[in-house]
Amino acid sequence: MSGPVPAARVRATDLYDLAVCPHRIALDRRLPREARTPPAPATAQLLAYGLALEAEVAAALGYPQPEHPPGDFAEGARQTRALLESGVPGVYQAVLYDGRHLAVPDLLRRVDGASRLGAFHYEPGDVKAGLSPRADQVLQVVYAGRLLGELQGRDPDHGFLVLGDRREERFPLGELRHVLASAVAQVEAIVERGATGGAEGGAAGSSAGGTAADGGETFPFLGPGCAGCRWRGTCVPDLLARQDLSLVDGMTRTRRRLLVRHGVDSVPALAALDPAAWRAAGRPPLGLDLLTRQAAALLERRVALTRPLELPALPAGALLLHLERDPLDADAVALAAWAPCDARGAAGPAAVRILRDAADRAAAAVELAALLDAAPRPLFHFGGAAPGALDALAEAAGLDPRRQAGLAAHLCDLAAALRRAASFLPVWRYELEQVDAALGGAPLPGPDEADEPAFLYAAFLRDGVPGAWGDALRELGERRLARLARVASWMLAR
Ligand code: SF4
Repeated sequence: MSGPVPAARVRATDLYDLAVCPHRIALDRRLPREARTPPAPATAQLLAYGLALEAEVAAALGYPQPEHPPGDFAEGARQTRALLESGVPGVYQAVLYDGRHLAVPDLLRRVDGASRLGAFHYEPGDVKAGLSPRADQVLQVVYAGRLLGELQGRDPDHGFLVLGDRREERFPLGELRHVLASAVAQVEAIVERGATGGAEGGAAGSSAGGTAADGGETFPFLGPGCAGCRWRGTCVPDLLARQDLSLVDGMTRTRRRLLVRHGVDSVPALAALDPAAWRAAGRPPLGLDLLTRQAAALLERRVALTRPLELPALPAGALLLHLERDPLDADAVALAAWAPCDARGAAGPAAVRILRDAADRAAAAVELAALLDAAPRPLFHFGGAAPGALDALAEAAGLDPRRQAGLAAHLCDLAAALRRAASFLPVWRYELEQVDAALGGAPLPGPDEADEPAFLYAAFLRDGVPGAWGDALRELGERRLARLARVASWMLAR
């Protein structure tokens, strides 16, 4: 069995994990690799896509790569130094390692300006599949720049990201160094605590809670990052068994930490808490009026509507609409699905459109607009993603702004209607899958039970990856419309 990540090593990828969930960093140091849950097939495909893109960019550049036995970063660092001292135009997957801090940037490239190496120095860059840079990706490049600066005796002025469309974003590193220093200090604190397990002991941590700001103590917290996380098989069962506070929608790590400090460490304890007494005791305001009601709904598995649900009249029924964008390209809607429904939410036949390119997207927008022209009616959707996706479709079709605005005016967000009615449902998060399950009295789907994202299937289809991806996309669209229909029916009945 291979051991955990060495406790004393701070990796560039820890900066990403710090942004998503600090507890990952601690578990990486505490648990063996074999305890990890493998990535879901689609996530694995996405990782493979990213690696292939890196290799393609590197092959086009023809940069050498330091050779070293797997895991022997000291040897990799020696090889990297030798390459830089020889003045090569660039290096692929250089190893920057000072014995404690490790970065393996995808690219280093030679630029003018004197350094310990000669009349030149190097600047770091990474290759990323997305079309716009994320802050954590930039920070990883800044981190590599710091280690590179120590090696070449000069801080590089700039770093860069090569994005999924092969476009380069170059940015100055200097201003970001103080942000890096703070993030690295947080990771170091977690890593140090992770080496001993801190006061938490077991794999999933205790309810004592905390963050890096608390001397590196971390705790599991149900969040969007859990869905694809390597530690979901460890944390999620533990969170459910303990009825952890993070199961309550609206909970934040800071709120959880404060509540735990005052002995409120589970959903039942929060449901029993009296917000007025909390305030009277001079404790910090935490929005407890809403949190305690949400905890009670979850504990008692009941639905509470504080105000009447407001939905538009439906003389011509409505269209149920599901649009799903590609997170790597905000302009690309990968799937459009719609179905008519009557005034009681009963759905008619579903239309599912797989959108592989701009022409598919334009055709879907035109088809949808024609349906609304023929019979104007609300477009029922769930959550905040549909307006941007509908705009992207309308742009692809070249609809003029008035026509675009006309389309958007039909949108009616059922999630927002639930919020306006101050609804409390027995869900962990107000997502379509969870709301549908709760209203139907079914068990809530866990982070691993969410549908794979449609854009991945669409990408596999476009790239000729073997598999019945078209069928999978059609089933996905129909499944989501069926959920939307059940939620709409329930709401319309009230
Ligand atoms: S499963 Fe969730 S709580 Fe656990 S480490 Fe991963 S993201 Fe954090």
